[in-house]
Amino acid sequence: MGLSLDSDSQKSGQKDLLSIPRYDKITDVLIIGYGGSGAVAAITAHDLGADVLILEKTAEGGGNTRVSGGGILCPKDMVGAQQYLRSLLGREVDDGMIKIYVKYSSENADWLTNLGGIVEPHPVGPDFPAKPHSASMIRCRVKGQGTSSQNLWKVLTDAVRQRGIEVYSNTLAKQLLANERGVVGALAEQDGKEVRIFTRKGVILACGGFEYDEGLKQCFLPAEPIFALGNPSNTGDGIRMAQSIGSSLWHMDSAAAPIGYKVPEFPWAIASALVISPFIDPPPSYGFIYVDKHGRRFINESDVEYHMVWKSLTTFDAVNLDYHRIPSYIVFDDVTRRSGPIARSSIGFNQGSYRWSNDNEAEIQKGWIQVAESVEQLASKTKMQVNTLQDTIRRFNESANGEKDDEMGRRRETIIPLMTPPFYSIKIWPCLVSTHGGPKRDSEGRVLDAYGKPIPRLFSVGELGSLWGSVYQGGGMLAECISFGRIAGERIAELPSLM
Ligand SMILES: Cc1cc2nc3c(=O)[nH]c(=O)nc-3n(C[C@H](O)[C@H](O)[C@H](O)COP(=O)(O)OP(=O)(O)OC[C@H]3O[C@@H](n4cnc5c(N)ncnc54)[C@H](O)[C@@H]3O)c2cc1C
Repeated sequence: MGLSLDSDSQKSGQKDLLSIPRYDKITDVLIIGYGGSGAVAAITAHDLGADVLILEKTAEGGGNTRVSGGGILCPKDMVGAQQYLRSLLGREVDDGMIKIYVKYSSENADWLTNLGGIVEPHPVGPDFPAKPHSASMIRCRVKGQGTSSQNLWKVLTDAVRQRGIEVYSNTLAKQLLANERGVVGALAEQDGKEVRIFTRKGVILACGGFEYDEGLKQCFLPAEPIFALGNPSNTGDGIRMAQSIGSSLWHMDSAAAPIGYKVPEFPWAIASALVISPFIDPPPSYGFIYVDKHGRRFINESDVEYHMVWKSLTTFDAVNLDYHRIPSYIVFDDVTRRSGPIARSSIGFNQGSYRWSNDNEAEIQKGWIQVAESVEQLASKTKMQVNTLQDTIRRFNESANGEKDDEMGRRRETIIPLMTPPFYSIKIWPCLVSTHGGPKRDSEGRVLDAYGKPIPRLFSVGELGSLWGSVYQGGGMLAECISFGRIAGERIAELPSLM
């Protein structure tokens, strides 16, 4: 099965698990990563009688889950939802997996309610309304004092605490321990010391994506740089741990990434508010356009698919050998500048760390937003072609006056001309909300080896090795965290104990 003996066991020459010469802690189930999926798996396995330990490399955990938008896919029409998802997901995701995902996702609202959460419908509709059965894509969110994601995280952490589930924080899992019976624990680092944990039932990897691992992004995503809006400690550790014991990988080139700003002061990016999307509040003003490095528009800004816009930004110019939309720019005028913050403070890791000014003045002063008295001067400051940018803005303004249809097909009611100087621009980048790659799992949450066989006693949940490929339906990630957290928690709890 492609597993090698833990090196100490090899040295001892004994094959029995009890021969593992030294361990600091024994538990039934070890969960690596305390974000949404790890918390759900822990609660589930605990409630089925397993002794559970969670390792988390940061002080508090929460991962991307705590800073997300908090929308959770919870379909009600089981057959319709399966057909809709079948049309979005690749064939590597088999029908059985879609079925179990839809079944558990349809129960997730009740599961959260049973934990004490107050779950309400989310007003946002399907991402791809033209697809058959899109009406089955219902979303929900957790109500409370904070944002939807903070409320969700509170329900989960309260449940973990009430159950007395042990969490080792500031503890970095580094390596899985395996022998011929499968995965039997992990090696971690806590306060600079090595901690060896032995498991009677197995390990669940719940360490999130690789949004902050430059090496993995360079290898697997189509362009660089691609920044991230979420938790900086999501560095693909689970991928390396699973690979080192023979796991296969899937969806490594897939992700969801809206438009954001990246400034040198912070490692994380900040989500743009100048986005027209059913997912988010309307922008403070419609007076803006997106242009590429040269000053050309390239997209209908009123119909941008929020999570998939990065596909458009990563287009490669095969003649000039250039990613000519990385970065792109948002161009706007003083009316838009005065209409409200052009960034969102309600999602992403910037929450609580940086509050964008209401009039965008502070960000102009910092040099994050370029300002110019004329379009010509703006082009020169951003190194765009002057004629191209002038033409672009002239044509956009003509369509606002009703003289012509917009060349990109932008909806008329969203076109406000750019007339009032000064003019502004800010660089925009693809900014990940999630990567989808990682160890391939089956419909039971078991990690598969390079030959498609389950690696005994190893499970993965959540964003790490997600079933989502390059087409992503919003709300699907948190649904996967809860669904596969529950599935893997159930399956691991029912495994026979090694001791
Ligand atoms: C801004 C933003 C908005 C989003 N909005 C939505 C939305 O509305 N709906 C939706 O469905 N999805 C949304 N997503 C995506 C979704 O939040 C994530 O895919 C999901 O929360 C991932 O959960 P997880 O449990 O897999 O990982 P995470 O919640 O990221 O948790 C992983 C944890 O593992 C820890 N960890 C990593 N490596 C180790 C290690 N070696 N040892 C110990 N611990 C480790 C990390 O520190 C982290 O705490 C959004 C994401 C972002 C960033």
